[in-house]
Amino acid sequence: MLDFLLAFLGFGLLFYLQATFWESLFHEYVLDLTPALRARRFQMRKLWPSLWRAHIDHAVIHHHMTFRRSYTEMFSHPEEEARLKGILERQYALEDARTFTRSRYGASFTWEGLLLVGVPVWLNFLWLLALPTIPAMAGCVAANLLFSTPYLVFSKWVHPYMHMRFDLAMQAAPPALRLILGSPYGVATRVSHYVHHRDPRTNYNLQYLADLLRCRWRRPSASEWDQMIALGLIEPRHRQRLEGRRFLFHPF
Ligand SMILES: [Zn+2]
Ligand SMILES: [Zn+2]
Repeated sequence: MLDFLLAFLGFGLLFYLQATFWESLFHEYVLDLTPALRARRFQMRKLWPSLWRAHIDHAVIHHHMTFRRSYTEMFSHPEEEARLKGILERQYALEDARTFTRSRYGASFTWEGLLLVGVPVWLNFLWLLALPTIPAMAGCVAANLLFSTPYLVFSKWVHPYMHMRFDLAMQAAPPALRLILGSPYGVATRVSHYVHHRDPRTNYNLQYLADLLRCRWRRPSASEWDQMIALGLIEPRHRQRLEGRRFLFHPF
């Protein structure tokens, strides 16, 4: 039992830190690239197509080609999606265009995308080769499943609901996701992700900590709080609870 507990707590801390830093760095250096990095990545796109595809999916399509009229509406009328699909099929290889559609235009990611985004989770299983006892191995696996995966769960399943009005998201989401969305953590990430879309050089994390330590955190301005309420993204009670306070050390 002691072996299990020591492995669970030790690896838990290590895996949490690794996941939050990986998420923040991946978002900054693979997804939302600066123009200089983007030019370099464009030259490498044939060497490593999945990296380039992930950037287009997130930075170009999710940030700029969808949610154009409103943060809470992926498309503002039915023809808009058909038009975007047509543009993507003309501009990109068929395989890429299909990936963009299957990732819900960057609001989620595909199972192949999970291979790339989830690299730390897969690598953590290598620790099993170095551990001496079965309970220590079990502690390592449990810590990996619990502490390395929140950013994956958030970016694949929770993110689409974070772009919906709060009341509609709570009606539409399955029960397990509703628990996350309605929790203080779900509301905080909904707020910080809104700031990320306003200012894509900040608030990369859906698994909090690394942005704060890397000085990539920005609290919402008063007018952003007003906009979130006007959009129905959050309710006035959420603002009262968070504005001007700290949540998990993060200033809001
Ligand atoms: Zn982004
Ligand atoms: Zn988003």
